[in-house]
Amino acid sequence: MADETGPTRLDPTRTATALEFHRVAKRFDTGTEALSEVDLSVAAGEFVSVVGPSGCGKSTLLRLAAGLERPTGGRVRASSDRLAFVFQDPTLLPWRTALANVELVAELHGMSRSRRREQANRALDTVGLADFADQLPAHLSGGMRMRVSLARALVLAPDLFLFDEPFGALDEITRLRLQEEVQRLVHAGGFSALLVTHSVSEAVYLSRRVVVLSARPGRIVAEIDIPFEHPRPARLRFDAEFGRLAATVSDALAGEHT
Ligand code: ADP
Repeated sequence: MADETGPTRLDPTRTATALEFHRVAKRFDTGTEALSEVDLSVAAGEFVSVVGPSGCGKSTLLRLAAGLERPTGGRVRASSDRLAFVFQDPTLLPWRTALANVELVAELHGMSRSRRREQANRALDTVGLADFADQLPAHLSGGMRMRVSLARALVLAPDLFLFDEPFGALDEITRLRLQEEVQRLVHAGGFSALLVTHSVSEAVYLSRRVVVLSARPGRIVAEIDIPFEHPRPARLRFDAEFGRLAATVSDALAGEHT
């Protein structure tokens, strides 16, 4: 079914593909060519990461997936319009408690008051913040604010998560811990996910597949399968095979920075 603003919908009864880019190009009105000939699909339940040099079109790819931009060539199709966008900046309203922030999106989607309260409490519990529901954002750490942002995304029971450098502003310990949580949440929920990150280790740890984009205009120059089973233990990052796969991604990336 075509849709005026968002990506065309894949028929979920006939496909196990959550998201599909077919020969996608994006040229902005300014003349900047951000993406060229991108063919990429994310299977239902698959976690795919995108890495690439700054300015190569990674955020543009996510915005196309979300239907916030339209391609100027090719097509983007998604099997569901239930998607959650998680940014580096948690963008919480400072005058609303953690619970009220999580409820806000559900409120905007017209969920009844009792249902959204119940769903928001459950989502906060899932991200380990049940005891902080009544706190204002200013009284939460950066990692906790990101957890609130994840809870806000979970409340809508999305089929597809779009992550744009979600942990880029956090210290390393918090970042590693949140990667483990996201892995647990996404895997347990059977969600599909497309993650943009600058961290090769984060991409390898979280993904079933890592896609490397070229310098602008972004084209796919490598796709690396990451075959480890889930759940993945934290110590997997010290595994020799993990190191080999990370080196493969880094090498493909290094070729694009020259
Ligand atoms: P990345 O996320 O890989 O750093 P972006 O997708 O943000 O890259 O941007 C890709 C290119 O497109 C950059 O050169 C950026 O300046 C340009 N760009 C992004 N959004 C717009 C826009 N709305 N109008 C014009 N140019 C844009």
